[in-house]
Amino acid sequence: MTTSTAPHTANPTDATLNRAWSVLEAVPDPEIPVVSIRELGILRDVRHAADGALEVVITPTYSGCPAMSQIAEDIGLALDAAQLGPYRIATVLAPAWTTDWITADAREKLRAYGIAPPTGQCGSHDANASAGSKEKVIRFVPRSLPAPACPRCGSAHTERLAQFGSTACKALYRCIDCREPFDYFKPY
Ligand SMILES: [Zn+2]
Repeated sequence: MTTSTAPHTANPTDATLNRAWSVLEAVPDPEIPVVSIRELGILRDVRHAADGALEVVITPTYSGCPAMSQIAEDIGLALDAAQLGPYRIATVLAPAWTTDWITADAREKLRAYGIAPPTGQCGSHDANASAGSKEKVIRFVPRSLPAPACPRCGSAHTERLAQFGSTACKALYRCIDCREPFDYFKPY
């Protein structure tokens, strides 16, 4: 078994945690099934709780994201299928999720799927801030980020048609060169 570059910190000698990670890394995002919840940065941690149960830590992408209950259900189904219970799912809101957590692989998969990945670094909040930090997380609306390139032809000549695309986290753009509309995953 090779060591992956996954940014998790599971104890390599803990077979249960390792199995749980590999099961959960395969859980797709319900809205964009070409990428996994780990690649999107939703899956934060898998650990043993004090009572011995598995604890799966997830951070929602957008508050009130309707996909989160589906994601929790999918996690449960995957762990049940692998007989990795008992488990619980903890939703952690701080530090807040950011599109900066989307892996490079996932950005390529989004593009191939026809969704322009977020451009630039959001950088508006510190992903390393501790959950207990009293500092307020302030989100700045990025003003001068470059327009997303067309995921189909790569043209930089694109225009925004609508602030919201198929879901609230995406904007609707159109390529001026190939005329195709596309979803843009907004930096957040
Ligand atoms: Zn195009």
